[in-house]
Amino acid sequence: MNVEDGVPLSRFTTVGIGGPATAFARPETLPELEDALAWAAERELPVATIGLGSNLLVADDGFDGLVLKLGGELAKAEVDGERLVAGGGAANAVCLHRARAAGLGGFEFACAIPGTVGGGVWMNAGAYGSDWASILERVLVVDGQCSRWLDPSELGLTYRHSQLRHGQVVARAEFRLTPRPENEIKAKVAELQALRKAAQPTNKRTFGSVFQNPDHELTAGRMLEACGLRGHGIGGAQISPRHANFIENAGGARAADAIALMAEARQRAHEQFGVELEHEVVFLGPLELPA
Ligand SMILES: Cc1cc2nc3c(=O)[nH]c(=O)nc-3n(C[C@H](O)[C@H](O)[C@H](O)COP(=O)(O)OP(=O)(O)OC[C@H]3O[C@@H](n4cnc5c(N)ncnc54)[C@H](O)[C@@H]3O)c2cc1C
Repeated sequence: MNVEDGVPLSRFTTVGIGGPATAFARPETLPELEDALAWAAERELPVATIGLGSNLLVADDGFDGLVLKLGGELAKAEVDGERLVAGGGAANAVCLHRARAAGLGGFEFACAIPGTVGGGVWMNAGAYGSDWASILERVLVVDGQCSRWLDPSELGLTYRHSQLRHGQVVARAEFRLTPRPENEIKAKVAELQALRKAAQPTNKRTFGSVFQNPDHELTAGRMLEACGLRGHGIGGAQISPRHANFIENAGGARAADAIALMAEARQRAHEQFGVELEHEVVFLGPLELPA
């Protein structure tokens, strides 16, 4: 197995921020994945898997551990009857393409989510009234000790949350879909993509929603907008002028800029609405929001 040293993670994240991983490997089969996990365990290195980096903020100092990027067999998707069987590293776009070509519906909502199957399991990704939990049948999770098939209840999937921890790798997932004519799927996807384009920055470097929607009549985005934060920037990070729950890399942004902006946004929402916003974006490496 080939392990690379000091690989900058900024190029593996959609926002383009982040320092290096101490070690980086691209397993393509289950045995290669098990070897990589054993390699890290021998060295007592923490492990994190990266998908398309569309929900990740990596520290400027990087991640002192092994980062895995699944490829080959572990990033393929195929249809088996009414089931979609995909590697944890398969891009949602590839899964949707396979499902549509086979006349299977149910995955359309994911056209707006620019990640992978494994990243979707990690946070029960969802949009437009559906999510991973509603179509997922079972998931093969591999860690340093064993591999186990888990169903959605064992994964603890709730709103934008699972019980997965770094070091547990989604190697494979099976989704239960339903027959639907290809032209209907195409039309649904076009409709959802148009909605998305009208509401969010789609051509900017971001990491998706910054905060989870709180239990409040206003969404996190509406709250931050009401605080007058649209377009507000610190260093190279800027709150999107289009949607206040997105942070854009406006050029040369560092993780420290994004964290400072998030801390300010959180404080302003607390002052104005008495709400503690929880971050949705996953932190990798030494990063923390001040209490
Ligand atoms: C423009 C934009 C729009 C978005 N819209 C939505 C939306 O509508 N709904 C939504 O839910 N999200 C949305 N997101 C966020 C993001 O796309 C999703 O959270 C997506 O599921 C992340 O997948 P990823 O492969 O990019 O994961 P990454 O960002 O690479 O990783 C996220 C987490 O998943 C873990 N992970 C990744 N792969 C694996 C694996 N194989 N095994 C174990 N853990 C793994 C990582 O360790 C990390 O903790 C959006 C993001 C952007 C940039």
